[in-house]
Amino acid sequence: MTRWIGTSWKMNKTVSEARSYAHDLRSALEQRPELLERVQPFIIPPYTALTTVAQELGPSSTRTVRLGAQNAHWEDSGAWTGEISVPQAADAGATMVEIGHSERREHFGETVETTRLKVASTLRHGLVPLLCIGEPAEVQERGGTSEYLLDQARGALRGLPEDQLGRVLIAYEPIWAIGAQGRPAKVAELREPFEVLSEEFSGKVQALLYGGSVSADNAAELLGIPGVEGLFVGRAAWRLEGYLNLLEIA
Ligand code: PEP
Repeated sequence: MTRWIGTSWKMNKTVSEARSYAHDLRSALEQRPELLERVQPFIIPPYTALTTVAQELGPSSTRTVRLGAQNAHWEDSGAWTGEISVPQAADAGATMVEIGHSERREHFGETVETTRLKVASTLRHGLVPLLCIGEPAEVQERGGTSEYLLDQARGALRGLPEDQLGRVLIAYEPIWAIGAQGRPAKVAELREPFEVLSEEFSGKVQALLYGGSVSADNAAELLGIPGVEGLFVGRAAWRLEGYLNLLEIA
């Protein structure tokens, strides 16, 4: 099984920082081709660095590291100041689009309906959607996680034909486990959500990933949870050494 191990850099890194990360990542993977037999790496830089990172990683047809955009609008073009579309992300070199991260839902009004529109546009243009889902702390505390996750995922993927669903990646990222203000999830807290997600989506989507305070300390045990087919990482992979370490662990 190929494990998807990737990172979003969020609103971090200049173009030159991104260039040197991508350059060094490509060189490191050229030295360790056997890693790619079990791992599919992906990186999701800020828009400003997409083209540069794409150039460093090489042409998409031969690229070993997949490249994603952090968001994209559902319309192809038009009067949407400040947005970029899926064809524009593809033109800049992206082959994936991250959709529905909890920060987009919380701060920028992303809804289940907008995630559905973005997934559809991403698939229509031949890119891979990385759909992020996850519940807030209060939902977890009252025992409503499974229902919440299924609502988010079913809503975003509603009506997709089987072949298109088969290209989707889902990242389960509990909001309470994300970032410096979050706390790492215990394996026991993740078993049931992954059981529920696997029952509904395993073998139907491309892969189910886990994200939220992943680090070298917990990556192996997270990957051991039934249903987890990859990791989506923030802080621990923003330095290349950290990311390479996680690729080794996977
Ligand atoms: C995230 O924000 O999606 C994330 C997984 O971040 P971190 O790994 O830093 O918790």
